[in-house]
Amino acid sequence: MRFDRLRLSGFKSFVDPTELVIAEGLTGVVGPNGCGKSNLLEALRWVMGENRPTAMRGGGMEDVIFAGAATRPARNFAEVSLVLDNSERLAPAGFNDSDQLEVVRRITRDVGSAYKANAKDVRARDIQMLFADASTGAHSPALVRQGQISELINARPQARRRILEEAAGISGLYQRRHEAELKLNGAEANLSRVDDVLEQLA
Ligand code: ATP
Repeated sequence: MRFDRLRLSGFKSFVDPTELVIAEGLTGVVGPNGCGKSNLLEALRWVMGENRPTAMRGGGMEDVIFAGAATRPARNFAEVSLVLDNSERLAPAGFNDSDQLEVVRRITRDVGSAYKANAKDVRARDIQMLFADASTGAHSPALVRQGQISELINARPQARRRILEEAAGISGLYQRRHEAELKLNGAEANLSRVDDVLEQLA
């Protein structure tokens, strides 16, 4: 699925609604230091479900909300929307009923994050899975932030393996396996409780 446009409002330094058209081919973002280039990349990660404040260069998730400036008060929410081209119907079932898929994430102070896909409420997990399956998730190696190349060179083999798995599009399967294991453990615990009850009845 191709990214068509990114819309930001109240996200970090992008206090006013800003729209970025992502044309076909390679996209470069240029500008002076501190103008918000990295914030754009972070907005992309964030709308795809990034939940680690460190990955967003913040102390807490609410740090993505515009914190105010000398002439402007802080905002109460931040919103990022990513419009995807789904004309080839590559989105997974449940997201695949139109040519365009718009994913919106909004965070409100003291309330938290909420996600929408084509205006319908969805869970964070659904969005994370959508992008993990499309190999473009929040941790995707396709998004290269500053300093990441040297981190990669110095990374331990296990960390490098995770990057290769993300690129191969199998990280969604790992998440599903983990969830299946949790369910299995829960079922085993229930079974042993049933055994105890049966023993007491015998
Ligand atoms: P460089 O080229 O130096 O890496 P850059 O263009 O990548 O810079 P960013 O790091 O994206 O710039 O943007 C940094 C700017 O964003 C800083 O001016 C910082 O004050 C501002 N900023 C970050 N978080 C917030 C926030 N929550 N509210 C307001 N401004 C913010």
